[in-house]
Amino acid sequence: PSPALELDGLTRHFASGGSTVRAVDGVSLTVGRGEVLGLVGESGSGKSTVGRCAVRLDEPTAGTVRIGGTDVTRLSRRALRPLRKDFHLVFQDPSSSLDPRMTAGAIIAEPIRLHRLAARGEAVRTRVAELLAQVGLRPEHADRHPHELSGGQRQRISLARALAVDPDLLIADEPTSALDVSVQASVLNLLADLQRDRGFGCLFITHDLAAVEFLADRIAVMYLGRIVEQAPTAELFAAPKHPYTRALLSAAPVPDPAAQRSRERIVLSGELPSPLSPPPGCHFHTRCPVAVDRCRTDVPELRTLPGTARQVACHLVAEDGTAPVATNASPA
Ligand code: SF4
Ligand code: MG
Repeated sequence: PSPALELDGLTRHFASGGSTVRAVDGVSLTVGRGEVLGLVGESGSGKSTVGRCAVRLDEPTAGTVRIGGTDVTRLSRRALRPLRKDFHLVFQDPSSSLDPRMTAGAIIAEPIRLHRLAARGEAVRTRVAELLAQVGLRPEHADRHPHELSGGQRQRISLARALAVDPDLLIADEPTSALDVSVQASVLNLLADLQRDRGFGCLFITHDLAAVEFLADRIAVMYLGRIVEQAPTAELFAAPKHPYTRALLSAAPVPDPAAQRSRERIVLSGELPSPLSPPPGCHFHTRCPVAVDRCRTDVPELRTLPGTARQVACHLVAEDGTAPVATNASPA
């Protein structure tokens, strides 16, 4: 069967005050059926734009988007409508995506009616009650408006709304980062349980490394509009190859100190450059602790390391996966 989502050379440039913002610059990735792909990067890396392009909330400048094997890149809004039940986007802040005038029940019922997934009246109400139970809410929550619910409950409502259409693909953009830390884990657990039970493919967009390690089967790391490394989760955390990934992971707290994990500590100098004027060559060269001359001019291609499921875009990572060690790395 076709993958839940395939992006091929996805590019999104847009004009801003006489300049071109290169938000996404040739991203190719696949989310398999029932697979969770974590898309990780700093804010400004373009990861949210990838998610928005994948559901056509933003229009790609170039490249293709396939959902369940169907090329949706250039479908009109009208042609896209019947496909809307195959995929769904859950946002960071549910209060901006839930209509404040509607009750939770009406919000969940809307896609069911729109796609005629249940007969009118009683059947819709039964389905709404089932969905509420699946996201850990009670039937009486159906009568509340978004402002009468907590942040965690609102995110549960948006998950219920997404599940109402039984999608093959869920794109979740920072679904827990607007929530209190105490609530984040329970919503993340719910998402993991639902994904396991329903088996939808999931593009999980986040800057939270602990969350992505918990939820994702594979991880793609973005830097300034490009994917710099992609690998199965355990392999990426055990031995990151790209200097940016190594710095990113070295800054994250290690939950289990006994874990076999790189103990180096790499501190990156400087801020993420603006996507208005990304550095030439390797976008990361202005902050890379091991950059060499050619990094300033040659764009490193994302290549598969032979005999592995790993991809990395760095001139200095060898075919056998040997990666350069930063001279400023210090034991943690
Ligand atoms: Fe660093 Fe060069 Fe590798 Fe880019 S290509 S990550 S600048 S060593
Ligand atoms: Mg974002």
